[in-house]
Amino acid sequence: MKESDFMPQIGYILLLACFALSAHASEHGQAISREQALAKLRAGNERFVSGQPHDWSADAAKREELVKGQEPFACVITCADSRVPPEILFDQSLGDVFVIRLAGNVITQEVTGSVDYAVEHLHVPVVVVLGHSSCGAVGAALSDTPAEGPIGSLIALIKPSIDAAKRKGFSGDDLGPAAISENARHSVDALVQSSRAIDEGIQKGTLTVLSAIYDLSSGRVDWQTQVSAAVVPASVASAAEDTHENSAAGTEVEKVAPKAQTADAKETKETKHSTHSEEYARRH
Ligand SMILES: [Zn+2]
Repeated sequence: MKESDFMPQIGYILLLACFALSAHASEHGQAISREQALAKLRAGNERFVSGQPHDWSADAAKREELVKGQEPFACVITCADSRVPPEILFDQSLGDVFVIRLAGNVITQEVTGSVDYAVEHLHVPVVVVLGHSSCGAVGAALSDTPAEGPIGSLIALIKPSIDAAKRKGFSGDDLGPAAISENARHSVDALVQSSRAIDEGIQKGTLTVLSAIYDLSSGRVDWQTQVSAAVVPASVASAAEDTHENSAAGTEVEKVAPKAQTADAKETKETKHSTHSEEYARRH
């Protein structure tokens, strides 16, 4: 065999090897825990807020490494707003975060499908729905001006959150921020209720789903609702349903009883919503 005939075969073998490595990378299971993933996001945002980001890595060596496969440690669903890029505000590198962006960080079937892929095949331990201050999509939904067509269908997904904020007594200048918070929490609800992969991840204790709000001015991410499986015996699970405590990452945790996740999670989150609304009302 001439060398010129041999080289394409070498290339084919290398391609198969890369595919195998890629498959291995996506099937390896969780590389880091939920707590470690959350801590990385929090620390990255702290670096961003303090103006000292350092984790960016997108050079040729990093790109070559990622050709073999991706192993993101978190999935972030956020708005399409140009001021809210997750990789920058969490100070993370190429390949670190699986990002899904849609105006108003609403949940559609396609978004759920994308999150399912991240959870089921890439084994991300953390899913974050990230809303942001001054969100134009929520602002449009607050407007009385009717919207039709594709934008109208987008706004229709946000309207229930505005109604929820109004039911909690928010009005005037407070209604916008409250609706933004409600909208992020609503998206967490929608994800948990619509995705089998997320449901299983929570039940097995391998996945945490959170909502958070990014402040355009300070750069800070304010963590909100967290849905996690309770690592407690079933006998005390019911007692844990209303328990809030601080995790290692310093985030409030809602313990959700296994086998009753959806209904209990909703109930627990409603309790949390009230707490946040009261805090919000006190601050304003
Ligand atoms: Zn927005």
